[in-house]
Amino acid sequence: MFIKVNRDKCSGCESCIQSCPFDAIVMQDDKAEITENCQLCRACLSVCPEGAIYEIEEASDKKEKGQGSGVWIYAEQREGVIAGVSFELLGIGKKLADKLGTEVSAVLFGATEEEAQELIKWGADRVYHCADALVSAFNDEPYAGLLSDLIERYKPEIVLAGATPIGRSFIPRVAARLKTGLTADCTSLEIDEAAKNLIQIRPAFGGNIMAAILCPHTRPQMATVRPRVMKRGVYDESGLGEIIAVKADKVRSRTKVLEIVKEVSDISVNLQEANIIVAGGRGTGGEKGFKLLHELAGALGASLGASRAAVDEGWIPYSHQVGQTGKTVGPKIYIACGISGAVQHIVGMQSSDIIIAINKNPEAPIFNIATYGIVGDLFEIVPMLTRKIKEAKGI
Ligand SMILES: Cc1cc2nc3c(=O)[nH]c(=O)nc-3n(C[C@H](O)[C@H](O)[C@H](O)COP(=O)(O)OP(=O)(O)OC[C@H]3O[C@@H](n4cnc5c(N)ncnc54)[C@H](O)[C@@H]3O)c2cc1C
Ligand code: SF4
Ligand code: SF4
Repeated sequence: MFIKVNRDKCSGCESCIQSCPFDAIVMQDDKAEITENCQLCRACLSVCPEGAIYEIEEASDKKEKGQGSGVWIYAEQREGVIAGVSFELLGIGKKLADKLGTEVSAVLFGATEEEAQELIKWGADRVYHCADALVSAFNDEPYAGLLSDLIERYKPEIVLAGATPIGRSFIPRVAARLKTGLTADCTSLEIDEAAKNLIQIRPAFGGNIMAAILCPHTRPQMATVRPRVMKRGVYDESGLGEIIAVKADKVRSRTKVLEIVKEVSDISVNLQEANIIVAGGRGTGGEKGFKLLHELAGALGASLGASRAAVDEGWIPYSHQVGQTGKTVGPKIYIACGISGAVQHIVGMQSSDIIIAINKNPEAPIFNIATYGIVGDLFEIVPMLTRKIKEAKGI
């Protein structure tokens, strides 16, 4: 779609200039002109007294829309084992496919045929599996090339992927190659019953509103979903489906993976799978405070999380960050120490079963969502907790 000005109709009144929230309208030779800043918000359309501003659809838009069918999920694997988010995507993918009266397929690069069978047991009607060495380990260039080729060939109407470091790295490349839209970090996905479009819902403006986003003019409709946001589908040991072997021989890559270096840490950073998380914020004051949290996490067998403030200070690596621009977690117990409870942090941990907040400010917003709140100095409370837990466990 494009927004255009009919220069013959434009009287040069400049009324439209103010209406554009993106400063995308300029005057040239006393006529309005739409620049490349245009975000297609359509706010200017109703403003022009001469009816000079209009929208046009690209011919290719119309051609693409309506083509293709089926819901695809990209099934992520790490070291040959399918990541949990893939089963969650199959859960929501199947629901969407049922509403559209179509099938759900998974795309798996790397891993074995046994893993592909697992996807069928979790609900996939079909698995496109590429076992070629080129895609056995993640590399965004060949992954983007192969997934784009498959989508162009089979034309699914919806493609979903995890909003994980891997998904975030290569799915935008796929959307750009296919010249289609992509909504990142969706928290809910629905089907618009009338137009059969995918309604992609996600927090916007710092979590203050929930935006419903459509991609009505191009296909496929693409979205990423954070791990642990959707429920897994139903596992059926006797589930039946088809595995289609695909080759990556036409895919070119200018890069290759030489070595995968894992971050070394004696405390697990696998926050998304953790049952207990001890998280620290600016209130920890630095390494000394985090050392106390480290000891508490060790005693509990917990993972260590952090607010962005603590990460920005350089007290702990980014891989531990919880929140809007970090990880979304849902442990059984989340212990927030010296974290105020900003909305950007809360969106990443509010689905935890039990939230324990330790903060010296009784007015801190974290107490609004805490199951148990302890008002006090973490430098006194955390060592006390660690001691009690060690005593109880006899360690
Ligand atoms: C676009 C955007 C994305 C963002 N993404 C994220 C994100 O993913 N994750 C995230 O966490 N933030 C994110 N933020 C930042 C967020 O807005 C907050 O600034 C941040 O979460 C604050 O971190 P904090 O709670 O550790 O620090 P503060 O807000 O400074 O709070 C520190 C708390 O510690 C308490 N305290 C101090 N000393 C002690 C003590 N001795 N004992 C007990 N309590 C004590 C204080 O009372 C205070 O409540 C984002 C912001 C933006 C704009
Ligand atoms: S459609 Fe929106 S962004 Fe584009 S020119 Fe009009 S008001 Fe500006
Ligand atoms: S409001 Fe209409 S007539 Fe006035 S400058 Fe804009 S396009 Fe031209």
